[in-house]
Amino acid sequence: MSSDSKPLQSSVGINEVVQTLRDGGLVTFPTETVYGLGADAKNPEAIKKIFSAKGRPLRHPFIVHLAAPDKFDQSQIDWVALLAPWVSDLSEDTIKLVNTFWPGPLTLVLKKDQSVLNELTGGQNTVAIRAPAHPITQELLRKFKGGIVAPSANRFGKASPTSAADVRHEFEGMLDLMVLDGGDCEVGIESTIIDLSSGDKAALLRPGARTPGEILSKTGVKVYLPGDIKSIGVDNQTSSDTPKGIW
Ligand code: AMP
Ligand code: MG
Repeated sequence: MSSDSKPLQSSVGINEVVQTLRDGGLVTFPTETVYGLGADAKNPEAIKKIFSAKGRPLRHPFIVHLAAPDKFDQSQIDWVALLAPWVSDLSEDTIKLVNTFWPGPLTLVLKKDQSVLNELTGGQNTVAIRAPAHPITQELLRKFKGGIVAPSANRFGKASPTSAADVRHEFEGMLDLMVLDGGDCEVGIESTIIDLSSGDKAALLRPGARTPGEILSKTGVKVYLPGDIKSIGVDNQTSSDTPKGIW
């Protein structure tokens, strides 16, 4: 960048980001996986702005991010109460997965509550949901007091950003987005997505930081390839062969 040009995106604090979300604007913020481009999950107009900012195909569904309550002992968190406003059905397997892996890089696709906006689910009767572990994301979500939809903060088809500098570069000259700088993302790849909406078998929709092998060994829940009857073994899926997301 030349010395007389200014960055289009400014670094900001959490309170400004919360206010922008409440005003129906878009913000970018760190998570432990990648940087997200966020909007209020209850504001259809704000959600529509994400499609144009990313150049993302319409009806491509988003993940809702929820706050983990600030408890010294994370094992005491009541995830069922937290999920209740968003989902219509919680199986035993779902509860095992959230109790073991949340907050963290695991997204679950569940039957949605009727109040969840079609704009964010792409008109499906399911919703993808996770509680991120990054302390800044958690503070942001707690202060916002609501769900935030947040795909990765990149244009459609580009690699997901893992630093504030990546985000600034991605939208430079196009959009004046707030960038909440939380340093480099620790995980650096997208969350694993597991579909539990059938109420029967857990299906892997996207590989990521949590592997089917780890899920099986820690919870006893088998994760299947979609449309496949064979479960994925403990050793044949590692995070090192996970592709970087391009959504
Ligand atoms: P991104 O937000 O770009 O990291 O990606 C979101 C991913 O979650 C996409 O691959 C979506 O297809 C997937 N996803 C979100 N909501 C749903 C849903 N209701 N059912 C199935 N997949 C979903
Ligand atoms: Mg993405």
